[in-house]
Amino acid sequence: MHGMSARIIDGKAVAARVRTEVAQEVAEVSELIGRPPGLATILVGEDPASAIYVANKRRACGEAGIADHHRHLDARVSQDDVAALIEDCNANPEISGILLQLPVPAGLDGAALTGGIAPEKDVDGLTPISAGRLAQGTPGLRPCTPLGVIELLDSYGVALEGAEAVVVGRSDLVGKPVAALLLARNATVTVCHSRTHHLAAVCRRADVLVAAVGLPRLIGAEHIKAGAAVIDVGMNRLRDGLAGDVDFDAASERAGLITPVPGGVGPMTIAMLLRNTVNAARLQHALADAVR
Ligand code: NAP
Repeated sequence: MHGMSARIIDGKAVAARVRTEVAQEVAEVSELIGRPPGLATILVGEDPASAIYVANKRRACGEAGIADHHRHLDARVSQDDVAALIEDCNANPEISGILLQLPVPAGLDGAALTGGIAPEKDVDGLTPISAGRLAQGTPGLRPCTPLGVIELLDSYGVALEGAEAVVVGRSDLVGKPVAALLLARNATVTVCHSRTHHLAAVCRRADVLVAAVGLPRLIGAEHIKAGAAVIDVGMNRLRDGLAGDVDFDAASERAGLITPVPGGVGPMTIAMLLRNTVNAARLQHALADAVR
């Protein structure tokens, strides 16, 4: 017999709504600053997966009315050459946001290059300054996938204040910023990782459970409190397709709300990148006004 079945979070629909809102905001900001917000995507080398990610981001920008300042560099460029390009983008007023597609080819230091992006143009939210601002709860640009997680929870009316939130994974890209955003919303946050004891018991406390691990179907029914909201960030490529970190069929018997993979968090990342680019343009305009 089947138990209750969770409501499925439609990430595609939420992402489409955000993208429509962003297109409207792009029109408003263009009016305000006299030109459209612009995004510089920087791709180094020929990694096919990276090329597809960048192409998708550029297409989404075009659809939202954001100007495309794409730069493609040969895999053999030096660290200094990439750093110099980032400096050019930092100084270019037509460029509102800068995104260095990671990973960069061997021989380049992706973290050091990312660190050279001006904080007010850091639309991936991955520079140490942006991470520090998030940790200290001051205004700044936040990482896109974590913003997408919060947007999904908000879109489905999940209460965060005072809620028990458990995040599985502590990467700088996903786990840590998700935890910081949940904390900023006054959730009681626990962060789990590869050394956590009794993972299932800890996860079972969660009203809001976020899995960002990279292990297919790690999270099963035994990890889930009845009625919990379960957000699966995992994207694991298996021979028979894409799998999340959550065993969807088992988990949806206990959860109240759950994201599918694909079609959950995945579509949110680009939507939030577009929103960050508009916010970056606004931020720079306000800063330019302040020094005028
Ligand atoms: P990551 O950097 O590899 O981090 C994985 C985290 O999971 C680490 O903190 C690790 O703990 C923890 N972990 C590993 N094994 C565990 C276990 N058995 N129990 C509990 N925790 C464990 O990965 P990531 O970049 O955060 O990405 C996580 C997943 O999200 C991946 O599947 C990735 O493809 C996906 N992702 C999706 C999107 C999107 O939807 N747009 C964006 C980014 C990432 P330690 O710190 O102790 O090693």
